[in-house]
Amino acid sequence: MHELSLATALVEQLQEIMAREGVQELVSVTVAMGVLSGVEREALEFCFPLVVEATPLKGAILKIVETPLCFRCPRCQREWQAEKVDFAPCGGCGSAPEIIDGRDLVIRSLEVT
Ligand SMILES: [Zn+2]
Repeated sequence: MHELSLATALVEQLQEIMAREGVQELVSVTVAMGVLSGVEREALEFCFPLVVEATPLKGAILKIVETPLCFRCPRCQREWQAEKVDFAPCGGCGSAPEIIDGRDLVIRSLEVT
């Protein structure tokens, strides 16, 4: 199950941050989930508590915010967002855009005691 390994990786990353920052107890974590990340939100929400159960993060709440797809024009640097991949050309100069955000699952903030 993909989301289980994702949750495990997320928890490992969180433990590293907590060790580095000297955080003892985590109340919640907010992660940004790109619409293109391919992550099933509900599956991740289901797996997270199972993974943290055996760690010092037990009881921490996972909050997920979905991030839209962001495009940037490599030619005129114009940036815009879209709900889905359509690769519409840049409205300014007609160049093909590149995706700059909306693909990954990233930790955005931690709430600690
Ligand atoms: Zn452009």
